[in-house]
Order: sequence, then structure tokens, then C-alpha cells
Amino acid sequence: MESKKKDIRALTKENLRSFFENNGDKAFRGNQVYEWLWSKSAHSFEAMTNISLSTRQMLEENFVINHIEVDDMQRSNDGTVKNAVRLHDGLIVESVLIPTDTRTTACVSSQVGCSLDCQFCATARLKRMRNLNPDEIYDQVAAINQESLLYFNRKLSNIVFMGMGEPLMNYKNVLASIEKITSPEGLGMSPKRITLSTSGVPKMIRKLADDGVKFNLAVSLHSAIDEVRTQIMPFNVNFPLTDLKEALEYWYEKTQRAITYEYIVWNGINDNKEAIRALVKFCKYIPSKVNIIEYNPIDDGMFQQASSKSISDYVSILEMNDIVVNVRRSRGKDIDAACGQLANKSGK
Ligand code: SAH
Repeated sequence: MESKKKDIRALTKENLRSFFENNGDKAFRGNQVYEWLWSKSAHSFEAMTNISLSTRQMLEENFVINHIEVDDMQRSNDGTVKNAVRLHDGLIVESVLIPTDTRTTACVSSQVGCSLDCQFCATARLKRMRNLNPDEIYDQVAAINQESLLYFNRKLSNIVFMGMGEPLMNYKNVLASIEKITSPEGLGMSPKRITLSTSGVPKMIRKLADDGVKFNLAVSLHSAIDEVRTQIMPFNVNFPLTDLKEALEYWYEKTQRAITYEYIVWNGINDNKEAIRALVKFCKYIPSKVNIIEYNPIDDGMFQQASSKSISDYVSILEMNDIVVNVRRSRGKDIDAACGQLANKSGK
């Protein structure tokens, strides 16, 4: 049954302080509870051990903590961990912990399902059910931070918004979650270690620039030719490459920060010289680098990873044009945790 009690994490610290004051307690109690809720990521009032029993009971009567629960955890043989995360209304999203020798990266979801229709992405096949709240995004990060401490004995170092959903279609909540993740009262992470990946929503990229955000931006480009991009990412019809280019120029003008383009090379789609030339041209609009990502097959055979020869053609031509390019190996494929594979397949 849906609870009628209020979600306590919808309250600001100031709200909590006045709540306690109005209930004949000290405002300082609000700070203590706030710390439990955020930096200590408490799942229950019972866990708040420095708060008196009667106060905890009073909180219990008035509020709920809509904390996410990690329902199922799968570990890949390359160390990647995938969490199936249950939300308070029973819906499920997935998030992934990706370890390397020097870092632990959390890949988090921003929506349940996705409203975009990228033909090569498993999440696109799930209907968009709803946006995640700021605390549901924050909780995914906090859970991965705890797993990182447990399994790798170190804190989370980086966050990428590359899980389920289009973060710029849930703009307000994603930004609120980042606010909390970077706040000293939350996880105190540097925005430089956060990357938001977007399929490229021009209006929202401009808004990011206007809002003066300090995190990094990555754009899933995959093709710099409109006809091809529209074929694989049909929403491109509404946001054509000229609009994207202009929005990115605006971003650079305002932030002076370079962009990363994510790019997959597929057989018979963009494994040709014309596609490479178009990408080189696109990369010259503003300072940028290219991450070539491995394609993770999602059942039907419509898309196939291009040959390593085609990838090296991309790398050499980009490098010849002084564009930084990295070829990224995919992680967690055996547990469907790699890019574009998140589709709640664990069966829960
Ligand atoms: N909606 C956002 C973030 C989620 S997708 C975006 O589009 O950027 C995260 C990354 O995974 C994107 O670069 C996306 O293009 C890529 N991706 C999607 N499906 C994939 C697949 N099957 N194999 C490899 N990468 C994929």
C-alpha cells in the first residue's frame, strides 16, 4: 500500500531544523537527522543510533524514507558489478560499478526506461515509465560507493550518467542529484569526476551552459551525417546536427570546456571514409575528443561491430587531424551490464 506519510528526504536541512524546533526539540537535531539521511545514507530511522528512541518513533509516525533497495547484484568475471535497484513503487532500474586499477566508476540511471528510440540500445525497448527523483539517483551512487569500499577497499572515484534513460530529459532532478553528490553534506565528490552523457538535446545543452554546471559533458554522436544518424537514432529528425552543433558551440563559448563524443562503428553503417570525414569535420567545431566504444550486441543481428581495420582507420585519420581518440573496451558484458545492455533482464 502506498504510504500517506511524507518522504523525509524531500525536506531541506532548514525544513528539518524548523520541524524539530516546532516540536519542542533543538534545531540541531535536524542537522543530525540530515546527516543520517544523506552522508550516512540511512535506510531506516532505527539506524539513527545517536537519536533518542522516542524521537525516532516520532519520526517513524510522521515520515518514510523512500530509500532504494539493491534487489539483486551480479558480479562479472572482469570485476564489474551490476545492481538491480528497486524503487519505493516497485519499479526497477540498474546501475553499474566499473573498477579499473586506479578508479571505481559508478554508471547510474536517470529514468525508468527511456523515451528515446536509439535502435541499437536495449533500454530504448523499455517504455519510459517515469523520471527518477534526485534521491533515487543519489542513492544509486551511495550504494555503489559502499560496494566499492567493501569489494575494493576504496571510495568511488568517478560517476557517469550513462545508465538507463536520457539525463537531459530529467534535467531538474539530475542536476539536483549532482548538487547533493558534490555537496560536502552529501558525498563531497568533485564535479570534475562526473560526466553526463546525452544523446544530444540542443535546448538542454544550452541550459546546462546557462546554469554554469561544472561537470563534464559527453554526447553520443555515432554519426555526423544527418541521414545516417536519423536512421539509427530517429529522434535526430527533431534535433538535427546543425542544432546540436550550435548548442555545443554555445556550451563552449560559455564554459570553455571540451566535449567528449561517444562513437560506435558498425558494419555497413558508418565504417566508411565519408563517415570518418564527417566526424573529423564535426570535431573541429569546438575542442573535443572521441571515445570509440565497443558495440554490445542486444539480441537481433541488425547491428554488428565493425572490423578492427575500420576502427584503426578511424583512429589514424582522427589522429592525423590532431583529434584525441580513445578506443574503449567494454566491461561487464557477461552479465548484460555494458553500455546499452541495461534492460532489467535479471528477471526480478
Ligand atoms: N541517453 C544517454 C545516456 C545513456 S546511453 C546517451 O544517449 O548518451 C550511454 C551510452 O551507451 C551512449 O553513448 C549510448 O550511445 C551507448 N550505447 C547504447 N547502446 C549501446 C550498445 N548496444 N552498445 C554500446 N554502447 C551503447
